Amino acid sequence: MRRPVFALAIACGIAATVAMKDAYTLIVEAIDNGIYKPGNRLVESELADRFGVSRTPVREALQRLETQSMVKRDGRSLIVATLDHNQLAELYTVRTELEALAARLAARHATPEELRVLQSMVDEDLCHMGDAEALARANRRFHHQIHLASHNRYLVQQLDIVHRNMALMARSSLAVEGRPKVALAEHQAIVDGLKSGDGAAAEAALRAHISKAFETRLREDARREP
Ligand SMILES: [Zn+2]
Repeated sequence: MRRPVFALAIACGIAATVAMKDAYTLIVEAIDNGIYKPGNRLVESELADRFGVSRTPVREALQRLETQSMVKRDGRSLIVATLDHNQLAELYTVRTELEALAARLAARHATPEELRVLQSMVDEDLCHMGDAEALARANRRFHHQIHLASHNRYLVQQLDIVHRNMALMARSSLAVEGRPKVALAEHQAIVDGLKSGDGAAAEAALRAHISKAFETRLREDARREP
């Protein structure tokens, strides 16, 4: 059996980390990283082969993902789910409230080190301006860092679920012309709010950012409708 991920992990010196990941986590990460996109088929034997695990844990992981609506049946096969218009709106509603709470808590609890990391993430975004995929990854890391800075583990868990579902959107709003530059300014406004310890300002900046991202996505979807 091929073990490409495992071999790569050994080469990178991260074998222990990967070896401990279960099939479920590996599949979720592969969806999150765009290796499997919404609508793509998920074949048990291929997944087992790719991740170097046996088929039983893969089957169990797929069943779990199906109950979480991350994958769905299409005839006899399983495919990565796509969000419809209503699901998109529902997800953004929950995301807005949870991210706003994270910003408010982070303004109070973030350490100086965490604030410096957030600022450096905004600065580094400038290096990715022409690369939508890199920007989308950097964006996920930025938001995750704010979640962690809230220092509330239950909130972090809930936001992880929301962001896992965000991976079911076919395309990042950061792929839209002109959006990266504006989003970068919005990220800076959030960090400014956090640095000043002003929970209301950080929350308002975050709400404005998510609202703009949602609006961008809706406009893009409307433009692409036949
Ligand atoms: Zn963002």
